[in-house]
Amino acid sequence: MVAPLAKEIFEPETVEEAINILHRKGEDAAIIAGGTDLIISLREGVIQPANIVDIIKLPLNYIKGSRAKGFQIGATTTAKDISTSGLLKKELPILVDAAIHLGGPQTIELATIGGNICNASPCANFTNVLAALDTVIKIKGPDGDREMMLKDFFRGPGITGLKRAEVVTEIEIPAIPGAYGASYVKHTLRKEMDIAIVGAAALIIPDANKVGKIRVALGSVGATVLLAENARKILEGKTFSSRLAESAGKAAAEKDASYIDDVRASAAYRKKITRIAVKKAVLDAWSMAKGGK
Ligand SMILES: Cc1cc2nc3c(=O)[nH]c(=O)nc-3n(C[C@H](O)[C@H](O)[C@H](O)COP(=O)(O)OP(=O)(O)OC[C@H]3O[C@@H](n4cnc5c(N)ncnc54)[C@H](O)[C@@H]3O)c2cc1C
Repeated sequence: MVAPLAKEIFEPETVEEAINILHRKGEDAAIIAGGTDLIISLREGVIQPANIVDIIKLPLNYIKGSRAKGFQIGATTTAKDISTSGLLKKELPILVDAAIHLGGPQTIELATIGGNICNASPCANFTNVLAALDTVIKIKGPDGDREMMLKDFFRGPGITGLKRAEVVTEIEIPAIPGAYGASYVKHTLRKEMDIAIVGAAALIIPDANKVGKIRVALGSVGATVLLAENARKILEGKTFSSRLAESAGKAAAEKDASYIDDVRASAAYRKKITRIAVKKAVLDAWSMAKGGK
């Protein structure tokens, strides 16, 4: 017989109820949403909470707003919902791209955007893309509501700025008025099912033939997802050229990212790919901003 993964499973109907249970049970409780990360941690004994609080039925599955006003996405919205959203396909296709390439069909069906962020993996698709979009995270907990910029949310691999009994409820993407381009390059060795060896997401708001606003976010090349500030400084306010995109790739690879050797790739390989991935993300974002796709 397979041993149960926890003593008790709670299925709250409201966020407030979920917070109360989490508060009551303290350290001995964990939230589950889609379960695609949490079940692995439970099976491998990485965590052993007696109580599981299942939040998937909470009314946090929605995609609202527009590019002109900003988007609000509920924390339990799945990669499947995002990949099939007509609104996002039309107005924010970079997020659809992140969803389509999140593992295989089974993962896409279950994985939530909130779980992707709260798992705090530096390789995570949504996290990588959302960092480039200046995303804000809405949090509810025993001490009330608060919000954090996504870029400040991570403390290290698997570690977030959440306090005890807090729940991420919503992801807010600020308005992107006017022409813009955004692109996500996820490098894996196999086409499907792999997490990123290097991820690069770029957002560009052009100012005529100059780069107005630019954000480059990197995944899998640091302890957390990070913003490539050296790449930004090279591009911001400059007349765009492919040579500038090349320089941004070089700066990101040499100054912004940090590398480790692991089972999936060597540090040297990651560095080479970071340079190429950032250049491609920036070129693709510029092309989209200029009506190329
Ligand atoms: C085969 C496979 C392939 C995968 N491939 C990819 C990939 O290519 N790219 C990628 O990014 N990920 C990948 N993953 C990882 C995983 O699918 C994603 O990270 C997913 O988005 C996690 O969401 P979830 O709803 O399943 O989270 P869960 O497993 O339910 O939770 C993850 C963590 O977040 C916490 N949590 C969840 N929701 C909240 C909330 N609202 N508030 C506070 N805490 C919360 C949980 O307590 C847990 O610690 C893969 C996983 C598998 C099994």
